[in-house]
Amino acid sequence: MNLEKKVQQTLKRIKINKKEKILLALSGGKDSGIVAFVLKKLGYNIEGLHINLCVGKYSQTCEKKVKELCNKLNIKLHVYDLKKQQGQTMKEIWRKNKNLNHCSACGVIKKYVMNKQARKLKAKKIVTGHNLDDEIQTFLLNIFKGSPELSANTGIITNNIQDKKFIPRVKPLFYIQEKDILEYAKKKKIHFLSGKCPFANISYRIEIRDFLRKLSTKEKNNIISNFENLKPKLNKIKNKNKNYCKICAEPCRGNVCKACITLK
Ligand code: AMP
Ligand code: ZN
Repeated sequence: MNLEKKVQQTLKRIKINKKEKILLALSGGKDSGIVAFVLKKLGYNIEGLHINLCVGKYSQTCEKKVKELCNKLNIKLHVYDLKKQQGQTMKEIWRKNKNLNHCSACGVIKKYVMNKQARKLKAKKIVTGHNLDDEIQTFLLNIFKGSPELSANTGIITNNIQDKKFIPRVKPLFYIQEKDILEYAKKKKIHFLSGKCPFANISYRIEIRDFLRKLSTKEKNNIISNFENLKPKLNKIKNKNKNYCKICAEPCRGNVCKACITLK
């Protein structure tokens, strides 16, 4: 089945209304760029959000790429500048969180900003470009860390906390392998920022990614279907506390949300 059909089928399962506003998180990379291309083609009501993490030249290049894409596809773009709007650059945040690897800290901040901005812009869903390879990596990483329940809420839709302040995150490329995304981009002559973030220091994830590269499509699909079969069980052992952060009032599980702990 081709990529567009797969995306259509995935979105059908979560019944997104074509009129409802969805906020597409655009990094400047190929995955979220392809999502923009396909969703626009399918007629969804999308606006873009780019978070400028203020890590120097790399951030400037990413923002430029996102702007070019949105101009080309006629997508309204919202740029969130971390330094201007949050008061700290990602580099400053990393310096304060030496116990966290860069990607974990960055992930926490990005999800936090996405949720708040989606609410502010009255979007009903957040859409990201995570693909099948990313999802398998996360699932296996959580198993290796001894916390498989952390995967309980991932899937084509992440409804982490059942609360009206929490905007569900959707992954239209959940069932699509990176190699098929690359092939699609090539076929459609879509050019994106290649190469990964120069600050990524998640060696464990990279090892898993390299291991996964050796697997066949069938094996990867088996991992994903095992994960989906396990989900109801993982849900039972998951921490389901619902709370509001004492500092920022965002929905979270403990007393203070992960973003406030990271931002300090
Ligand atoms: P990553 O966490 O870099 O693997 O990216 C996963 C997804 O998060 C991307 O496909 C985008 O949808 C989103 N994303 C990553 N970085 C940004 C960013 N700087 N601004 C907005 N969305 C982002
Ligand atoms: Zn908070």
